[in-house]
Amino acid sequence: MSRVLIAEDNAVNRELLRELLESRGHIVIEACNGRDALESARRERPDIILLDLGMPVMDGFTTLANLRKDASLKSLPVVAVTAYAMQGDREKALSAGFDGYLTKPIHVPSLIAELERHLNGQGVSKARGQTAGQ
Ligand code: MN
Repeated sequence: MSRVLIAEDNAVNRELLRELLESRGHIVIEACNGRDALESARRERPDIILLDLGMPVMDGFTTLANLRKDASLKSLPVVAVTAYAMQGDREKALSAGFDGYLTKPIHVPSLIAELERHLNGQGVSKARGQTAGQ
């Protein structure tokens, strides 16, 4: 089980992601803008952040830059999530320092693959074990 911070300003999208992640055994922390996400990351110490690029108060790129300035959060995996994917956006996000990139609507196998890649499969295999044991 892993602690996943969802930073997303759309409540419906947050809820969908929460249900999906909780069904796989993860603990979900929610933030509704970039500033909230920074505070939550410092306070809650998630294992990974799913960071919406388009958010009020502080957008995803600025939030990432602030996370990377914090020595204790510098190496935390941060996956960009965006609804407005254009050609070249993935490269832009990766060169800005995001560890992964997902487009909305979320393609579930891609999300799971990103989590496995960054969490070494730990969260996923434990979640499977829990499901099997229940
Ligand atoms: Mn948004």
